[in-house]
Amino acid sequence: MVELPYEYDALEPAISEQVMTWHHDTHHQGYVNGVNSAEEGLEAQREEGDFSDTGSLLDQFTHNFCGNVLHEMFWNNLSPNGGGRPEGELMEKIEEDFGSYENWREEFKAAASSASGWALLVYIPYTDELHNVAVDDHDDGAVWGAHPILAVDVWEHSYYHDYGPDRGEFVENVLDLVDWNDVHENFMDMFEKFN
Ligand code: MN
Repeated sequence: MVELPYEYDALEPAISEQVMTWHHDTHHQGYVNGVNSAEEGLEAQREEGDFSDTGSLLDQFTHNFCGNVLHEMFWNNLSPNGGGRPEGELMEKIEEDFGSYENWREEFKAAASSASGWALLVYIPYTDELHNVAVDDHDDGAVWGAHPILAVDVWEHSYYHDYGPDRGEFVENVLDLVDWNDVHENFMDMFEKFN
């Protein structure tokens, strides 16, 4: 499992040390454990030639795998030195696809407010566009072929202890900690892979 790229208290006050500890060590760890136990279950079924639990094991795999991928991205997307705006190719693409950075940010915040899971900025090679996506749970609303480059967790475990019901304030504060170099790198990796 990925280590946090900063100390547990590094993002205070936007995310408290307590929430970061619970979120990384308990919630994220739980998804990693869930992937492992689903894979063990599937492997055991293959060895026995008994596929009677396939449906529930694959549900367990998808839920936990997506949870793991998105949490890893979320931690790496943030930095105590984050903030500012995207630059270079990423900024140009945001302006091309959303009209302006401000438009993108407002739409992303609206996605974060409506989702009961995650707000994502994704790159879709099929149409060569950036798109916002609102995901319930970890995977309900996923877009096939789209690659997340920025993920913001809006599950209640992400903010309720620090903000109560004020998810909007949490999202604002988190967006001000985005490490745009990391998001830029994610975008360029996918752009270059597919173009
Ligand atoms: Mn979470």
